[in-house]
Amino acid sequence: MTDTLHILKVALDVPLDRVFDYRTDKPNTQIGQYVVVPFGARKMIGVVVGISDTSSIESKKLKSIIRLDPEVIFDEQSFKLFQFCSQYYHYPLGQTILSAVPSRLKKINTKAMTKKYLYRLTPKAIELGIDQLPPRQTTLKRVVMALIDATLLDEASLRSISSSWKKSIETLDEMGWIEKEEITLDDKVYIQAPIPSLNDEQKKAFDEISKTNKTFAAWLLYGITGSGKTEVYIRLIEEALKKEHAQVLVLVPEINLTPQLESRFRARFEKYMLVTLHSHLTDNERLTHWRLAKEGQAQIVIGTRLSIFTPMPHLSLIIIDEEHDASFKQQEGLRYHARDVAIFRAKSENIPIVMGTATPSLETWFNATKTKDAKKFGFLKLTSRAVLDSTLPEIKCIDISKSTVTKGFSPYLVEAIRDRLNKKEQSLIFINRRGFAPVLLCSSCQWTGRCHRCSSRLVVHLNQKRLRCHHCGHDEKMPLQCPSCGNTDLYPTGLGTQRVEETIKEFFPEARILRVDRDSTKTKEALNDLFLKMKNREIDILIGTQMLSKGHDFPYLSLVGVLDTDQALYSPDFRASERLFSQLMQVSGRAGRAKTKGEVYIQTAFPNHPIFEALKTHDYEHFANELLKERELAELSPFAFLVLLKGEAHQLAHVMQFLNDAMIHAQNLSAHVTVYNPVRPMMERLKGMERAQLVLQASSRVALQKLLNDWVPYLRENKLAQKVKWVVDVDPLEF
Ligand code: ADP
Ligand code: ZN
Ligand code: ZN
Repeated sequence: MTDTLHILKVALDVPLDRVFDYRTDKPNTQIGQYVVVPFGARKMIGVVVGISDTSSIESKKLKSIIRLDPEVIFDEQSFKLFQFCSQYYHYPLGQTILSAVPSRLKKINTKAMTKKYLYRLTPKAIELGIDQLPPRQTTLKRVVMALIDATLLDEASLRSISSSWKKSIETLDEMGWIEKEEITLDDKVYIQAPIPSLNDEQKKAFDEISKTNKTFAAWLLYGITGSGKTEVYIRLIEEALKKEHAQVLVLVPEINLTPQLESRFRARFEKYMLVTLHSHLTDNERLTHWRLAKEGQAQIVIGTRLSIFTPMPHLSLIIIDEEHDASFKQQEGLRYHARDVAIFRAKSENIPIVMGTATPSLETWFNATKTKDAKKFGFLKLTSRAVLDSTLPEIKCIDISKSTVTKGFSPYLVEAIRDRLNKKEQSLIFINRRGFAPVLLCSSCQWTGRCHRCSSRLVVHLNQKRLRCHHCGHDEKMPLQCPSCGNTDLYPTGLGTQRVEETIKEFFPEARILRVDRDSTKTKEALNDLFLKMKNREIDILIGTQMLSKGHDFPYLSLVGVLDTDQALYSPDFRASERLFSQLMQVSGRAGRAKTKGEVYIQTAFPNHPIFEALKTHDYEHFANELLKERELAELSPFAFLVLLKGEAHQLAHVMQFLNDAMIHAQNLSAHVTVYNPVRPMMERLKGMERAQLVLQASSRVALQKLLNDWVPYLRENKLAQKVKWVVDVDPLEF
């Protein structure tokens, strides 16, 4: 019964590692088209991944598709990428594909492309300037300032400045202050940004990479902040786009995609269509941008990790900025690392890939610097700051074990801030908040507030007078007396951003202070506002967490004070010191970026720790090489490959039974893989679930993958798996 049947192999968003057969009467269906199909009692969106005239299912039992959408949503190259990811990360193909396409596509009806505009100020507006705006119109003012700053902005950027941007644009339009233009391929007139000529190191980097222009090669562009990496990317992109129809993909960490970066690219690529892909776009915008890339119209795509899956028919170059950034790793669902996927893609499409950073991940550092024959990446260095007269900040450690510390601040740091205030320069107080936030402590019995659903402490939110769990969102009123002993003297310990803010206010009542953390800057809007305020010197002291450590220019910032880093020095996570180093290096890079000399004060009880020695001399290389030696001895990444199996259940016994069973099975599968015992993670309970995990380790990726090929299907079949929620994380970043 095989004649004249058209069978579609359809991948669905279900946790089963197989595809499903459906019947169709449309003979010219293509791979990559999506379909609506009946699945049990439901209708589901699926993607055609194969076409056949046979099926193992009896033909009367075969169901027909309900609808076929004409749009082909991925090409052969993307399909290869999905297959690779599905196999390498051991995640079902259907779920892999459907997590990589814009979510708007998955709704049953999708709108056609909408018109998109870019906005700029008219010459009249630039001449009149901000002072001519009506008073108290802060949003209007902000929009105009952003336009002055960026020259040209698209709707997504404007929305990130204010949610009522449309009204501002209308007002400006009535005033004759604004011009808009449609984003098209037509020629446009842009204001030219000054183009620096490359220095010797930049030129060398450009030349070397350009030589490999048309074939696969992976490059590490290692250069301190401000050394001109972005300028090198721009030149490489210009070069790549000389080829007709060529497309370029630039991957950036989420937080780095500021209107400033975007406008820098727009200004330099006036003749090309540039689109962005990130989580601040609306679903419709995302779909539109993605389609422009897929149709080959957008020549430059700047996006965050998910954009690595964007089909681009003429992709010629991939750039990854801040290669070391942890946001490139997806921590749920398909747990891919965008850098690793990008390397696979570059290899498979035979194009170059350039990874830039001041503090490479140890894996990348290893790949770029190990001995010749094993070396996987080309290695290029930029050793000095590109702007003349701009030097690296001086880094000093303050030994807090030898100094009187008042509410977290040593007198040296307080004096340094005062000095900046007098000089009308800006200070940044950096708190490394990872695993560190103020908890409420009873002075008499040491009681602390704990979450009853997670093994975590509740964090004090002083302004709202509430205690909150940062893991599950549990929220309760702050008690007035100790629930355990009745004592009324409860106080918050530890340095949260709010507490630091209160302290700074006490020390410097006259200063203009801004606190930035996840609570105060939920939106990109707030973050952009902050950049503008810093630029306009409306802030004297900025207090913040890692959000602030990444590539933003604050020209008047000359002091960075770092509080409390010590718990990261002795963390059980083997990547903690690598992360701390890169964070401190990045945050130090914020000081003295223009012509103001920068200083960094690090408060620590361990001023002689090698990490600080390396920071003082700005010597990432030495530090990285020392860390590599440690990793080699301990047989950790990059000398070994790891896989983490995480499980959780209402009852600990179920998780343990599942993991023990998994462990024994894995031990029987391969002698080349070390299988560790199940252990509890740092966060033993989460949202009321008991958690445990086990690690697989191997010196050969092939051996590990071979084991996984048998092991993961076994786990899926395991009856205990019904009581246990589990995931496999290949190349985990966090444990
Ligand atoms: P990075 O990406 O390494 O942080 P950027 O490319 O952003 O560095 O460069 C830092 C600053 O130096 C920018 O303002 C840039 O315009 C400027 N710059 C880059 N290259 C040069 C150069 N060759 N000559 C002068 N200025 C440069
Ligand atoms: Zn008590
Ligand atoms: Zn909780």
